[in-house]
Amino acid sequence: MTKTYGFDTLQIHAGARPDPATGARQVPIYQTTAYAFRDAEHAARLFNLQEVGFIYSRLTNPTVAALQDRIAALEGGAGAICCSSGHAAQIMALFPLMAPGCNIIASTRLYGGTVTQFSQTIRRFGWSARFVDLDDLAAVEAAIDENTRAIFCESIANPGGYITDLDAVSAVADRAGLPLIVDNTSATPYLCRPFDHGATLVVHSTTKYLTGNGTVTGGVVVDSGRFDWSASDKFPSLSQPEPAYHGLKFHETFGPLAFTFHGIAVGLRDLGMTMNPQGAHYTLMGIETLSLRMERHVANARRVAEWLEKDPRVSRVTWAGLPSSPYHHRVERICPKGAGALFTFGLRDGYDACVKLVSALELFSHVANLGDTRSLIIHPASTTHRQLSPEQQQAAGAAPDMVRVSIGIENAEDLIADLDQALAAASA
Ligand SMILES: *Cc1c(COP(=O)(O)O)cnc(C)c1O
Repeated sequence: MTKTYGFDTLQIHAGARPDPATGARQVPIYQTTAYAFRDAEHAARLFNLQEVGFIYSRLTNPTVAALQDRIAALEGGAGAICCSSGHAAQIMALFPLMAPGCNIIASTRLYGGTVTQFSQTIRRFGWSARFVDLDDLAAVEAAIDENTRAIFCESIANPGGYITDLDAVSAVADRAGLPLIVDNTSATPYLCRPFDHGATLVVHSTTKYLTGNGTVTGGVVVDSGRFDWSASDKFPSLSQPEPAYHGLKFHETFGPLAFTFHGIAVGLRDLGMTMNPQGAHYTLMGIETLSLRMERHVANARRVAEWLEKDPRVSRVTWAGLPSSPYHHRVERICPKGAGALFTFGLRDGYDACVKLVSALELFSHVANLGDTRSLIIHPASTTHRQLSPEQQQAAGAAPDMVRVSIGIENAEDLIADLDQALAAASA
């Protein structure tokens, strides 16, 4: 599938064609663990990575492969590796780059679960993260040392609607010879294409907008194919001989597909964070309508954010599409089709009013999720960002008097009416 097709065409056709065996028009769910080899020679070539094909579904599966190709096409990347969740995708993105003693520079504005994964869990692997405000480019530069292997950020950051200046951050990464990894979950490739702003890798929680209806967990790592892994000695997994494949060098052998092949042939083989074909099917179905849903998500977010901003019970609204947002000036350049549908707002009556508001809403669901067709709400300080210190909560845009909403694709006037009655209950 060539890149000359538009986004709406690619979201339906990329990676898929009628099934050669049956003519089935929709991508079949290949519910199989293994694939018959033609003969011993064929099996040997597959195991040596001399021929691309299907061996075992921990590594590759045709349904999952269709999804990988589709997401790679939508992001404008060279290849993609689907994983069992967004958090699995983050580990899979770091795994080929890191070794004990290595660190990453991570934005202070990240999904709460990512902050925990990076500040606690990866330390067990001997990796570490340095959290830096990515608006302070001098601080980013100062935090990089000879053991730094990547810079990590979100395009539209969770939970606050903060928009990262990807062009500026990727320029810093380029000067340091480091890959920039962008979590594009809340923007989706429809609103933001990080590779057009210099990113090296994109990760997604496909659990969110790409599937779109809250049915399955999944993740993906997409590779731009543009990073020179052999330019320094920092990335030996990709540039140096791999003992488990008879000394094969991934970058030398696979060029722009080095990261993708390594992710499948070593990452999925040995970490096993594989997406299952049923999950891939649900996400393929969701992606077919991605652009239509995102347009409605953004239009509804605008209606709700504008209404909230005028309400005296509300202290502030962080949607970057509002001219009052300090990130408004970045929307046009970074996410020209809209600032997403995820933002926070503050209540003048503080923490207790937030708790009351959440329970008084009828249409909004109180869940720890985002990117669903339905509108969702959560109070980060008492839930997703509970593990963080008060300073980390503030830095992450999850102060105690803020609630986070993920605006769905219902009728905007129904969402506004629900918020109106719940705000009345919360301030009573
Ligand atoms: C949900 C989410 C994740 C984690 O994804 P899971 O699929 O829940 O593992 C990572 N980053 C962002 C921005 C998310 O919204």
